[in-house]
Amino acid sequence: MPGVHLSAALVNAAAAGIGRPALEAILADHDIRRPQLTGEQGELLIEWSTRLRAVFAAEDPDARTVAVNALLTVGTTGVYLTTHDGRRPHLHFTPEDDDIVGRVRAVTAGGLAIFAVESEGERLGTCARAGCRAVFVDTSRNGRRRYCSARCGNYDAVHRHRGRT
Ligand SMILES: [Zn+2]
Ligand SMILES: [Zn+2]
Repeated sequence: MPGVHLSAALVNAAAAGIGRPALEAILADHDIRRPQLTGEQGELLIEWSTRLRAVFAAEDPDARTVAVNALLTVGTTGVYLTTHDGRRPHLHFTPEDDDIVGRVRAVTAGGLAIFAVESEGERLGTCARAGCRAVFVDTSRNGRRRYCSARCGNYDAVHRHRGRT
């Protein structure tokens, strides 16, 4: 589900304060066509990323549903199937000729919505380590992931251990 991983990457990039070239690289990595950004478009996508964060930070499936719907309202103009560039049929949520900001909004809002259906509103989260602002998509088998990375998990484990001894 490309839109979901792109959403997480954009939220984490925005939190880290990356610049426009790095942002374009993230878009290209996630198969976004024509990923070149003007300065203004880069700012609009950073702003959009702060809205995407709400979906990862939602407390439960009900709150997550509300958060995704807020994105769908702003970020999509309609829905249709497409097989562009020889790909398997997949859904698009904005016209092919929309600009980069419109296309990224649509693929992230639509991708998060489809993912929420499949994951029953679960499997998105924010890192449990205090001070880490990263978000993640939980693709683990049991769906109990709490940290953005093994590094953050280990950090907390060590500190919990020290607290006990
Ligand atoms: Zn497509
Ligand atoms: Zn973390």
